[in-house]
This record gives sequence, structure tokens and C-alpha cells, in this order.
Amino acid sequence: MKILVLNSGSSSIKFQIFDMQKIVSICQGVIEQIGESRGHIKFVYGKEKEITKKSVIKDHSVGIELLEELLIDNKVLKSFDELRAVGHRVVHGGEYFSKPTLINDEVIKKIEKVSPLAPLHNPVNLIGIKAISKVNPSLIQVAVFDTAFHQTIPNYAYEYALPYEYYTQNGVRRYGFHGTSHHFVAKEAAKFLQKDIDKCNLITLHLGNGASVAAIKNGKSIDTSMGLTPLEGLVMGTRCGDIDPAIIFYLARNLNLDIKELDNILNKKSGLKGICGTNDMREVEQRAKSGDKRAKLAQEIFCYRIKKYIGAYSVIIGKVDALVFTGGIAEHSSIIREKICSDLYDTLGIKLNKEANLRHDRLISSNTSKIKLLVIPTNEELEIAKQTYKIVLSLPNRV
Ligand code: ADP
Repeated sequence: MKILVLNSGSSSIKFQIFDMQKIVSICQGVIEQIGESRGHIKFVYGKEKEITKKSVIKDHSVGIELLEELLIDNKVLKSFDELRAVGHRVVHGGEYFSKPTLINDEVIKKIEKVSPLAPLHNPVNLIGIKAISKVNPSLIQVAVFDTAFHQTIPNYAYEYALPYEYYTQNGVRRYGFHGTSHHFVAKEAAKFLQKDIDKCNLITLHLGNGASVAAIKNGKSIDTSMGLTPLEGLVMGTRCGDIDPAIIFYLARNLNLDIKELDNILNKKSGLKGICGTNDMREVEQRAKSGDKRAKLAQEIFCYRIKKYIGAYSVIIGKVDALVFTGGIAEHSSIIREKICSDLYDTLGIKLNKEANLRHDRLISSNTSKIKLLVIPTNEELEIAKQTYKIVLSLPNRV
């Protein structure tokens, strides 16, 4: 059984096809520059065979049609009918969705309803869903929400101390993101620890361009650092994370900045980039190594914020089984992992095995560490495929 996973953006669609019997990816690529004067589709399949096709791609449906043609021409698929289902990444499910959901008209309406909470993402995720319906209306489609895993967070953790009607009437609360990734690595951690996920207490750190941390108690998310939007929490590539909200009024008043400019500053010009001029952690590391003070400071601020969250989440979880590192930075940077774990033995019993950390082993804690330290590569696409497959298997009359 083959499942196509789509992650639709405003001018691009990332895709991957999985063979669910073998649980392997058989093809992976991207449709880019949709709606622009020149677009292209690129994918790899088989033993590193790479296909690139340049063409004007008027809209997302045309992109999907072209993809189907290319997949058939290159014998990746005989036709789209070979696909059993399509799993879509949908960023925001609001309070409607606490698990992956079979897409129908009612589900589409609800995704549209919460679109104001993710105006840059949900509308384009819907375009991807509608493009598939247009090209192949009989295909089963499943929505896997970034927010769903965090729907178990209790109200005292998701409510903000604002006038209550902003929650009841406008949906202002913490939703959290990266849920598919936190859930995936939590399940992988449980397997590694040989424990039932329902009995696992974890702190999962997803550190990529976007970064968030989740507190997971008995397998369920009980708090996370991102909030109403993915701007809150940790220091990120270009996002500031937690700041005093009054900074916004201060800048507006004193520098005459309007909402749009402030939005752009906080989301695109802050974080690592704001502090030292680059959002690429590899460059930050190189520059820090060669003595660049701002790059060093960016690293320090990045890790210090993470440490504060680890402390806070350890207190709310109680006994933590493991701290899990995932995402581009946490999977690859031994320096960042070392900085995060430093000086945490006396308070939390966290002790890094430096050699294992340098080797990027899966288990990087020393034998005396009271909390296991795990490096687990995330695979959101595989998780979406697995969740989609689960729904397909639960449907009546399956073939
Ligand atoms: P996204 O959130 O866009 O999916 P990724 O999870 O791919 O991002 O992470 C991107 C980040 O990971 C970038 O800051 C990049 O510099 C960092 N990164 C990737 N490889 C390394 C490495 N070897 N050392 C340090 N940082 C790395």
C-alpha cells in the first residue's frame, strides 16, 4: 500500500511517497515556484535517481497533475490509483482536532474556520487538499495537524491571563506546534527505553529553524513552548521567542513602527539572525569558534533559554525519563547539546557522555545520569504516512 504525503506551501509542495508494507520512502521531492513565470518539479527515487522538470506551473492542481505524469513516466507509480491515500500536513487544527482526521467537507470547513489563527499556512494547506480532490476525487485524504498532539495540555497551561472573552470568542490560547515531530520522537524514545509510551515522561526538544520544547507526561503533551502562534518560546533562527510584550508597544511608540513592521521584525529579523546576523546555526558555530563575540552570545542566549524550559518542565513533569534532542540543530550539533546539558547534574542529575555526544550516538548520557539523553532524528513525513495508514486500515470495506 502506497501513501503520498504532502506539505503544501504558498508556492511549493513538498512530497514523499511511502510503501507502508515495508515502511520505506520510495520517492521524495518538491514542486516549486508555483504560480511564477518558471516553476519546477524535482524528486529522487530508486537508487538516487534524480528527476528535474522545468515548466510553468500555473497553480497547485497543475503541479499535482504534472507530478502524476512524471511519476508514471519514470515508473515510480503505474498511476495515482496505486496510491491508497494522501496524508496532508495541516498546521492549525484549533480546538477541533486532537488527532489525525479523515478529510470531508465538514473537516474542510473547520480547517477554514481556524485559518485566521494560521493565515500563512492553513489556506495553502487547503489548496493542496483541494488540488488532490480535483485531480483524483476518489483518493482518501487525511489531515495530520501540527497542533493535535498538544490538545491534551490542561487549561491552566494553555490559557493566557488576558480578558477571558479573547479565549472564548477569539480562540486566543496556547495551541503549540511541531506536534507531529514531538509525538514521533516520543514514540521512538519509548521504544528505545523499552517502555510503554503511556508510562513515559519526556522533555522533547525540537531545534530546527523553528524550535520548540514539549513536556510529555505519561505519553501526553502537558505543556509546550509555542503558543497561539509559533513565535512564542525558544530563541529560533529568525523568531524572538519569549519577550516582554511591552517591548512591542515601546518600539511602536518610540520608533513609529506599525503592526506589519513589528510582525516582520519579531518573526523574520530576530532570533539568532537578530543577535548575530545569521539564522544558520552552522555559521553561528563557525563564527563563534573563530572568536566572533555576537555569534558566541547568540549561542549562549539560545542554550540558556532552552535550559530554563528544561528546568520548568522538569518541575511540572516530576520524574523525567529522558530528554530527547531532535531537529536539524539538535540532531547535528554536539556543541549545542553539550552547552544545553552543562551544569545540570546537581539540580537535575543530567550528565552527558561527551564521547557519545561527539559521535552523535542515540544514547548520549553517561551511566550515572538520572535522566537519559537521546538523539532521535525526527521524520514528520513518515509520521504523517503512519497516521494516514492507520486511518485507512480503520475504514470499512478496505481493499
Ligand atoms: P527546519 O525547521 O527548516 O525544518 P531543520 O530542522 O532542517 O530546519 O534545521 C535547520 C537548522 O539546523 C539550521 O539552523 C542549520 O544550520 C542547523 N544545522 C544543520 N546541520 C547542522 C550541523 N551539522 N551543525 C549545527 N547546526 C546544523
